Amino acid sequence: MRLDLCRPCMEAKKKTHKLSRVAGGKDNKITCAGCGRRRFGYTYEARRKERRDQTCTAEQK
Ligand SMILES: [Zn+2]
Repeated sequence: MRLDLCRPCMEAKKKTHKLSRVAGGKDNKITCAGCGRRRFGYTYEARRKERRDQTCTAEQK
């Protein structure tokens, strides 16, 4: 999914998601999907990280 994130929210999101920046090179204003504020940030493609250590795949739906 695509998310607009400011830097602090991006740093937080990075723990649970793999982020790759989409297009754009300069700072631009976005409405952050994390904190809902209008700030400088980027658009990221976010993918949930696989949890390789917890292998209870039978529990997942
Ligand atoms: Zn934010």
